[in-house]
Amino acid sequence: MTDVDLVVVGAGIVGVSAALWARMRGLSVLLVDAEAPGAGTSSGNACTIATYGCLPMCDPSVISGLPGLLFGSDSPLSVDWSHALRHPRWMLSFLANCRAAPSRRIAEDLAALLSHADAGLNPLIAEAGAEDLIAARGQLTIWSTAAGARAAEADLARQRALGVEARELTRDEAQALEPGLRIGIERAVHFPGARQVTDPEALVRRLHARFVALGGLWRQERVTGVRTTPTLAEVALGADTVTAGRVVIAAGAFSGRIPGSGAEALPLGVERGYHLLFAGEGHRLTRPVGWNEAGFYSVPMAHGLRLAGTVEIAAPEAPVNHKRLAYIARKGAELLGPLPEPTSHWLGFRPSMPDARPVIGHAPGSDRIIHAFGHQHLGLTLGGITGRIVADMAEGRQPNLPVAAFDPGRRYR
Ligand SMILES: Cc1cc2nc3c(=O)[nH]c(=O)nc-3n(C[C@H](O)[C@H](O)[C@H](O)COP(=O)(O)OP(=O)(O)OC[C@H]3O[C@@H](n4cnc5c(N)ncnc54)[C@H](O)[C@@H]3O)c2cc1C
Repeated sequence: MTDVDLVVVGAGIVGVSAALWARMRGLSVLLVDAEAPGAGTSSGNACTIATYGCLPMCDPSVISGLPGLLFGSDSPLSVDWSHALRHPRWMLSFLANCRAAPSRRIAEDLAALLSHADAGLNPLIAEAGAEDLIAARGQLTIWSTAAGARAAEADLARQRALGVEARELTRDEAQALEPGLRIGIERAVHFPGARQVTDPEALVRRLHARFVALGGLWRQERVTGVRTTPTLAEVALGADTVTAGRVVIAAGAFSGRIPGSGAEALPLGVERGYHLLFAGEGHRLTRPVGWNEAGFYSVPMAHGLRLAGTVEIAAPEAPVNHKRLAYIARKGAELLGPLPEPTSHWLGFRPSMPDARPVIGHAPGSDRIIHAFGHQHLGLTLGGITGRIVADMAEGRQPNLPVAAFDPGRRYR
């Protein structure tokens, strides 16, 4: 006899979705997080349910554009080499996955999972009565250079071939859609299937509140270890040990730091990303706008205008890199015209595997542990469907969609 059917570690979008799906199926569930629900990376992202986002970061163009990306003064990527060299496995695997064939297979796997994203998220939104936090105006991507616009041709063809609806707009049409844009537009594409969460942290809190209302158990404690036997899992939190039929590891970028979880052995890396918030400036746009060359999104959201994105390869503990914030502020003004001083800034940690696929499935060596992390740039989008898959696995059922590509025991290259 165990204390609960399921313990879920981590109350970000992935863990809360898993906990709510499992509770809706009637399992007894304890959700645990060291912090408040939704306070981690799920709070500060670019707010976009990016169902079009199947093209991974590991792409052949990374190799050809590497010198400019690494050493350009205006690059959306920055790398702390001392950190990167201490983690050669992640870097080498990532570069191996940038080759055309693996990159193509990753895009196919992500597109297949993304095609179920809304089916995983919408029932949770409905269950929690969170429709007021969702806006459905699509997403606009723009390219500001002729070279970028040309290179986009092949990417858009790949996305369309994988079932993504992408509407090409003229410069005037894009400008009419978003009159606040002040930059020269070389190419613009509207993804009508995308949606926006107006406040991602509020969405997680709403899902969490519904979980608790349905009788789900919640504890704000740090999980310090997991141990399994053939019949149960023991989860150490605070001074207690809780027993469960299964435990879900959904601790985002920190999943690998939970001893005994099996995640310690996986090549989980961190892509740091930033946002700047400009309170009172949300009126400048009506939907998320991605500026391809600059590597960030501009999003009108509940608290104002959020400029979110860029990638920094550095240790989670490293201090905030103020050069990254200055880059976003400078590019934001190029995109939208002069902006006031930002109201606040934020640093978040994308949990990223070197093959850009999330990790969803039983831990190697124990079917008492279910891994659910590594959602990189797509956690807000894929949290709901990951939660549904996890609930299937927690019930001992086979998910009704292919999940082998996301198995924790796969080869990461
Ligand atoms: C700048 C930026 C922009 C982004 N934009 C988008 C976007 O537009 N669309 C999109 O889909 N995705 C986006 N993402 C990615 C998305 O935010 C992440 O993939 C997602 O938030 C990951 O969710 P998670 O639940 O796995 O992790 P988190 O939200 O980080 O949650 C993990 C939780 O685990 C807890 N935890 C960790 N260790 C322990 C422990 N030992 N014990 C107890 N609790 C623990 C933490 O406190 C935390 O609350 C963006 C990310 C960034 C950084």
